[in-house]
Amino acid sequence: MKPGNITTNNTDTSKADEKYMSAALAQAVKAYKIKEVPIGCVIVHDNKIIARGYNRRNTDKTTLGHAEITAIRRASKVLGDWRLEECTMYVTLEPCQMCAGAIVQARIPRVVIGSMNPKAGCAGSILNILEMPQFNHMCSVTRGVLENECSRLLTDFFKELRNSKKRAETETL
Ligand SMILES: [Zn+2]
Repeated sequence: MKPGNITTNNTDTSKADEKYMSAALAQAVKAYKIKEVPIGCVIVHDNKIIARGYNRRNTDKTTLGHAEITAIRRASKVLGDWRLEECTMYVTLEPCQMCAGAIVQARIPRVVIGSMNPKAGCAGSILNILEMPQFNHMCSVTRGVLENECSRLLTDFFKELRNSKKRAETETL
């Protein structure tokens, strides 16, 4: 095989990955608009997005309001199965321990991550729940797809949050 072929294949995969990660980013923007930490997720089956989710933890007042949990619940409803064995998940931020656990439980074969989360991520940062050979299911993980866009959204969000806190403090003086 010519080296060129390998490059072409990789480009095709990464183009599709970028397309679906953009859709996950659009979900993250929905969270941003309701003042939630902007994290978004989509689940793809047969080259089609079958479920979407974005962080609504504060809005819905539930720790289960993470983007991935919402997307998993919806995908299971669409497919009529708790097993999501032919699906790929795209998520803008490295999943936490709860979501990584749910991903393994749902037997999702492939997970594509935007930016990593050194403080809470469980797909390689603190733990790597997605790739533990001791569990009966291991995911294949791709990291860093549209990383800059995914992390910039979070940076902007926290910057804006700090600024509005500062403004509030100034106003009370
Ligand atoms: Zn989570």
